[in-house]
Amino acid sequence: MFVHAAQELGYHTVVLDPDPTSPAGQIAHHHVQCDYLDAQGLADLAQRCHAVTTEFENVPARALATLAARLPVAPGADAVAVCQDRVREKAHFTGCGVPCAPHALIADEAQLQAIDPALLPGILKTASMGYDGKGQATVHSVEALAAAWNELKRVPCVLEKRLELAFEVSVIVARNAQGELVHFPLQQNLHRGGILAVTTVPAPDVTPELQAQAVRAAETIAASMGYVGVLCVEFFVLADGTLVANEMAPRPHNSGHYTLDACDVSQFDLQVRAMTGLPLPAPRLHSSAIMLNLLGDLWFRDGSTDAATPPWERVLTLPGTHLHLYGKLSARPGRKMGHLNITGASATQVREVALRCCELLG
Ligand code: ADP
Ligand code: MG
Repeated sequence: MFVHAAQELGYHTVVLDPDPTSPAGQIAHHHVQCDYLDAQGLADLAQRCHAVTTEFENVPARALATLAARLPVAPGADAVAVCQDRVREKAHFTGCGVPCAPHALIADEAQLQAIDPALLPGILKTASMGYDGKGQATVHSVEALAAAWNELKRVPCVLEKRLELAFEVSVIVARNAQGELVHFPLQQNLHRGGILAVTTVPAPDVTPELQAQAVRAAETIAASMGYVGVLCVEFFVLADGTLVANEMAPRPHNSGHYTLDACDVSQFDLQVRAMTGLPLPAPRLHSSAIMLNLLGDLWFRDGSTDAATPPWERVLTLPGTHLHLYGKLSARPGRKMGHLNITGASATQVREVALRCCELLG
């Protein structure tokens, strides 16, 4: 989606990705297929480009630092490194005056033994490389915590107190090299099994005060890292209205995919503009929207083990449905294959169409 946005502005695009079937690699003008730290591949990329960004936060920050010696890289390696490590990420939130869930680092046996039982029940998360709820375990006792940490191969982890969530929101901001900041409205997000399932905009349960507080927090988080590019900050909202930062993504985010069809500039447009130094306009939401993530499970309905195409024709008959499929070659349960944006004149209408889509897709 970033490649499409860059190409719309006439840019020649090059993608470095180890996967020969990489969706972005398939549509870019050129695909450098190699490991993220391959010196020759990075030199090739640098030679072919005028600016570089990352679409995946687990690209080693070192690869970005190597490229930054040769050409502008946004977001920068330092900011990406903070986002890659839940411990540094939480320290950054706290340093910005934004509260996060009570937590403790577990990197060795002594830290495991010293854990405060008040953190239970809690969620044990690997400090790095987690996504879509992977690398996480909910634990109710110190025994279960020890077993879960063993299960996670005793890599550095964070134990986070499991909070009672009223709902979840995220904010996407974009910041350019001059420090100008723009933002999208808050998104309200529903997760299933640790994976984003539904995003609704405007966020039905968000007050103007909460919106302002979350935007201020996200802007401070971005500015104090000297961040350039699109940044998404995920928040929990507790029953008493308290806003708690969960995590951040140094790139366009799944909860911002609705911007492709419901805003006058998308999060991908803003990423292109931020990294190339083009003007950064404040985006305008011109339609209510619901985004439904399309997981590979939809290809295996009614217990079938053979992949079958979901009934897109019937979905696309409904007003305001925009289907986005990523060109991944095979469907697997839990794999994000695409998303469906639903836009309409009112939140009620969008909701009705979204419910109908859910019925059709089972
Ligand atoms: P990932 O990197 O996989 O997105 P997250 O830390 O965002 O991991 O967790 C995924 C989801 O799990 C969250 O969006 C939320 O629904 C739930 N979750 C994570 N941490 C907590 C917590 N401390 N308390 C309650 N729910 C949580
Ligand atoms: Mg998350």
